Formats: sequence, C-alpha cells, structure tokens
Amino acid sequence: MIIWGSKGEAVVLDAHEHKHCPTCEKERKFLLQLQYKVSHIWYIFKWVSSKQYVRVCEICLRGDRLVAKSVEERFGKPPIPFMSRWSWVFLAALVAGIGVFGSIESSNRSSQVQMFAAAPAKNDIYVLNISSLMKAPESSYMYGVLRVKSVDGNNIEFDAPRVTYNKVTGATKDVDGGKVARPDYFDGSLVLSKADITRLQNEGAIHSIERN
Ligand SMILES: [Zn+2]
Repeated sequence: MIIWGSKGEAVVLDAHEHKHCPTCEKERKFLLQLQYKVSHIWYIFKWVSSKQYVRVCEICLRGDRLVAKSVEERFGKPPIPFMSRWSWVFLAALVAGIGVFGSIESSNRSSQVQMFAAAPAKNDIYVLNISSLMKAPESSYMYGVLRVKSVDGNNIEFDAPRVTYNKVTGATKDVDGGKVARPDYFDGSLVLSKADITRLQNEGAIHSIERN
C-alpha cells in the first residue's frame, strides 16, 4: 500500500466510502480526491504542474494513490477550477499580443515613412539617426528631430536640432512631449536632396515621419 499525504489543493469527487483506516485503526469515511499542485507567475497566471487521484481517510488524510485513467472514466475530466488550469494561456496570449501590436505599430510607421518621404511637406517632423550625415560622427547612434523648413524642388531644407540622443526614445520623447514646438529647440538648418533622403531611408536611418 502506498501511503499518500494530502498537499497542495484538492477537490473531493466522492465521499461515500466507509472502511477501516489502518492509521486511525478505526472505521472512517474515505474521500476520493483529486490533489494537484498549481504553479503560477505573479499569482495570476496559473497552471497545474501535477495532479493525482487519491482515496484518503477523512481524518488522517492517509490512503492510496489511484490510477488517473480509471478515475476519469468514472468521473470525467478533472474538475480543477478553470483559471488554475488555463490562465497560463492568457499569459501566452498576452505575450504574443504585445509582439503583434509591436509589429503592427512598426509597419504603420514604416509605411508612413515611405509615403511622407516621397513627398516632403513643410513642418514634417523626422526622427532620424543623423550620424551618417556627419563626416566625423561622435557616435553611430545620434537620433535627432528634424523639421522640414521648406521644400524647393529637389532640395529640402530642414531645421536641425540642438541635441541628439544615442537612443531613439530620446528623440521620440521630444516629439511626443511637445518640446520640438519650443522656439529654441532647433538651431540652424541643413539641406538634403531627395536622393539623400532615399539613401537615409534605405539605411534604415529614418525612424519615423509625422505630419500634422
Ligand atoms: Zn485515518
């Protein structure tokens, strides 16, 4: 006989059997239980890491392990609460969803870059890695915000920023936070041809273009 203690969570499937318990040395009621362990992440996303059917004494909780198949044939599939069994699926979906939203956002951004770069207009806001425009860049990641000042045929004149960042988020925060509207944000200007813009685009240096 296998002695089996009760641990973790348990569901009682049946409580009709009475028999002699060798531990209590008395006639006892025996419970048919499904015992299981639940693992979790952040206490929210749970899954069942082990399950075991047992027949145990109601008082001392000792008894026998049962074969899952024979119990499930009688009682059906395990009645473990839904969230314990399946909430890991929500976590997986959440993680996958973040990836999907991220790639939708990035493909919207790159189609906007294509559309606006093909036909520049005054006040377009570019977030750009400007390092390849410089002869001796301080770093290969210099993200800055450029604003189209004027379009003259093939030449586009941009307002150039005072500051650049080594991360793209530095520049996008200036756009989102409205800093670029300040009169002292830009300092000087530079002229790029349409071919320059195409080259920057092909290099992946243009992060985004916004038009209001
Ligand atoms: Zn007992």
